[in-house]
Amino acid sequence: MAFVRREDQEDREVHHLSVHAQRARDAARRREESPDPLRTAFQRDRDRVIHSTAFRRLQHKTQVVAAFVGDHYRSRMTHSLEVAQMARSVAAALRLNADLAEAIALAHDLGHPPFGHVGEEALHELVAEHGGFRHNAQGSRIVDLLEDRSGDDLGLNLTWPMRRALLKGRIPAGFPLADDLIGLPGHPPLEARVVDLCDRIAYLCHDLDDGLRAGVFAQQDAAALRLWQAADTRGAVEPLGRRISAMIGILVDDLVRHTAAGWSERSEVRPKLGHSESVTVLADELLAFLRERFYRSRQVLDVMEDGSARIRTAFARFRADPDQLPPSARARLEKSGIDRVACDHVAGMTDRYLLRITSDGSRA
Ligand code: MG
Repeated sequence: MAFVRREDQEDREVHHLSVHAQRARDAARRREESPDPLRTAFQRDRDRVIHSTAFRRLQHKTQVVAAFVGDHYRSRMTHSLEVAQMARSVAAALRLNADLAEAIALAHDLGHPPFGHVGEEALHELVAEHGGFRHNAQGSRIVDLLEDRSGDDLGLNLTWPMRRALLKGRIPAGFPLADDLIGLPGHPPLEARVVDLCDRIAYLCHDLDDGLRAGVFAQQDAAALRLWQAADTRGAVEPLGRRISAMIGILVDDLVRHTAAGWSERSEVRPKLGHSESVTVLADELLAFLRERFYRSRQVLDVMEDGSARIRTAFARFRADPDQLPPSARARLEKSGIDRVACDHVAGMTDRYLLRITSDGSRA
């Protein structure tokens, strides 16, 4: 049997994908590399993300319910895997590049510090005068610099569409990105938009699931949501996992159908990805519910506020005594300065590592 070579996969992309899709054959890296015999450039990007230390750490970073109170809640790693499989399906349905969408999805949360958005705010304040902190910008810094694959300051040396995709949302003025990203040339690829929308579908449905399992709110409260009720039209919805999966199905189907209906293959018309008006209303209602009953619940805020205090403690400790930093971090002091290096180091920590080094009687 003749095996499928990289060139065959690249040919298939040329013939089968939309004019709006990214093609691996065209994707450049900061440093050129000889092509892989089996994998396309985006498949290699995906594999580099999966093999990175930052990806492994997602296993012990909080999504919403602090991962240490139970073993079956989402961590950032399981969330990223869920987004990746959803993004592959949606990208494939829209004839976009599923490999690129998968790689972006696996990397989309790499820059999150411990304790989620509260941790992000704490770091942003601590380094406000040195370029601030945002998880998206940090994700870009991780793949471009901190994950030092071959010691040449090129990080994972990912393709340009992948790097461009990771750079989205607010970037604080003065945040130290790779030089070639400053000024944000061009649009992010549409595959990045697929990941954004799948990220939202994943966390809306899975946070509802986790919140119910954790007992933060009751099933009868969730039953008032219209998306919850809409799941009844999609067959069996018991036990809870089947209802959650039906809700995801409604959102994913609507995203693909609504986007495809407005799609043009004229290369000068950039397609708009999104939900229909009626399903947008259902998703917004669920988000408002989660904000009020879950993200801002006392149970979640207590854990997060404690985490935020620990981030400040750890940052102050490394800043006061840089000798406590590991050698790889100390090596960046001259170039980046102690504030940025301490910030990178604390941001990279898992929730449980931060807990350990800031608990009474322990030292970093
Ligand atoms: Mg996410």
